[in-house]
Amino acid sequence: DLRPSLLTIESIEVVYHGVIGALRGVSLAVPRHSIAALLGANGAGKSTTLKAASGLLAGERGEVIKGRIAYDGEDIAGLPPHLLVQRGLAQVLEGRRCFASLSVEENLLIGGHLRHRTATQLRRALDLIYTRFPRLPLIRRSAAGLASGGEQQMIAIGRALMSEPRMVLLDEPSMGLAPIVVSDIFDAVRALNQQDGVTFLLAEQNATQALRIADHGHVLENGRVLSHGTSSALMARDDIKRFYLGES
Ligand code: ATP
Repeated sequence: DLRPSLLTIESIEVVYHGVIGALRGVSLAVPRHSIAALLGANGAGKSTTLKAASGLLAGERGEVIKGRIAYDGEDIAGLPPHLLVQRGLAQVLEGRRCFASLSVEENLLIGGHLRHRTATQLRRALDLIYTRFPRLPLIRRSAAGLASGGEQQMIAIGRALMSEPRMVLLDEPSMGLAPIVVSDIFDAVRALNQQDGVTFLLAEQNATQALRIADHGHVLENGRVLSHGTSSALMARDDIKRFYLGES
């Protein structure tokens, strides 16, 4: 891929509580305007890679002890999440936490406060979210706690989009959702990428769905990148099919 890289991770090693091994030298590059998938089993290091890039390790007593993380050509290792959001790098954590008693729209508006935005920019972001997730305007005034799991995932992604990011780090959006709902969410991610130019790094155990929309995939195992390639090349490999795509 000849597009310049928006996020570059070079040989990072991550420790939690001073204990080595969470990441043992992970490198990957996410080209501008692409979708990259981070695949692998439970505990392989997908979430840790996203947290390293989004400034979220500190809260879990994790630390990048080696390597380099660059966003848009600048070193970002150690920067806190709010400064990254201000530069256009947003994240959606695993588990889609919503404020249950606030309305869907209030949950979205909270995301706009992380980056200085004018009223026009907020309106534009909200319109885009409602276009890409047409379920949300239908329930915008009801409490987020009453929304389905899929709708809550849409709210979580929407909240990140309120800062009009250039890149979103998205952790396990399919978790606990029915396949049809997962398809809807992944279709929306693809539209955000293709129509709106948002770059994504997507961590997923559901490799089949992730590779369907991703340009590239990186397979992690035990804190290392086991293999990487274009989605079509990975999907054609027998070992990948057997271990990650549920085929035999
Ligand atoms: P999952 O899908 O379960 O989130 P993952 O591929 O995202 O899996 P990570 O959560 O990144 O994997 O975990 C990588 C390694 O780091 C694992 O060995 C895990 O036990 C360890 N780890 C993750 N978070 C912490 C933490 N807060 N404290 C200590 N160790 C952690």
